[in-house]
This record gives sequence, C-alpha cells and structure tokens, in this order.
Amino acid sequence: MERFPELGVRETRSVTATCQQDLPDGEYGFLELYCDEPGCDCRRVMIDVLRPETGWSKIWATISYGWESLDFYRKWGGTGSDPIEIKGPYLDPVNPQTKYSSALLNLFRFLLQSSDYVERLKRHYQMFRESVEKGCGRHDHLETNRIANRRKSLRDPKRRRRHAR
Ligand SMILES: [Zn+2]
Repeated sequence: MERFPELGVRETRSVTATCQQDLPDGEYGFLELYCDEPGCDCRRVMIDVLRPETGWSKIWATISYGWESLDFYRKWGGTGSDPIEIKGPYLDPVNPQTKYSSALLNLFRFLLQSSDYVERLKRHYQMFRESVEKGCGRHDHLETNRIANRRKSLRDPKRRRRHAR
C-alpha cells in the first residue's frame, strides 16, 4: 500500500466473516508489512488484521509468518533462535492483539491453504525487497507524506510499524 499503492489495494487479501462463533460479522483485511532493512533476507511477512468497521486503523491481530522451510529459519536465526516461532504463523507477542486474535490466526491458517495466497505473499516480498535494495521508496515516501500532510494538516499521524531485527 505504501510502495505499490495500486497493487496494494488490488491484492490485499480480505475475508468476510458471517455467522462465525468466535468473530464479529464483517470484513477483515490482511495488510502485509515487509522488512525494509537494507541487505536483510528474512523472508517473512507481518500481517496486520484491520477492519473497515474500525476505520482500517485498529489492529485486531498481528500475525508473523515465513514461507520458507524450518531449516531456512534455523540457519537464518542462528543459535538460540526458535525456527518454529520465526516461521509461524504465530501471534506476535510484542505487537497489538485482541481477544479475537486466535480466531484470526485460524482464519489466516485457512488462507495459507491456498498456494495462490502464499505465492502472492512471496511475490509481494520480492517486489518490496527490490525497491528497498534499489533505495527507492524512502524519498518518495517522504514526498508523498509531505503532500498528504499538506492536504490533511497532519490529521493522520499514524505510521506504519516495521519489524526490525
Ligand atoms: Zn528482514
């Protein structure tokens, strides 16, 4: 949504829940956050689950997920790391959660059963990482922010969180 706005709108996965025992009815968007640390190859995504009912701003769950093998994350994380936790999907303990988080994690597990969805995450990661390595985005982002701020008079101070390792 930040670096590829059109594609972001078109390809952000959302699910409409109806008559679920453990979730309020309505739409749930699974917004993807990728690492923007130059030179990093962590091959993971962080998902913020957002809802139109809460203005796409409240985070209903934060899910961390990696699509590579446990072996990959074992090597990547080094000694003392837990590859099962790095791979996930799991509910990120240092980011926002709600009482609906475990139901949303189950919903995410369900989405992962579609190989199309997993392939899409990988593709988005590649695109995002390429734009990080090319060093683009940062300046554009500031520029975009400045324009947006001028329009909204700093009404919207929220910033995308990023995971850093
Ligand atoms: Zn990374």
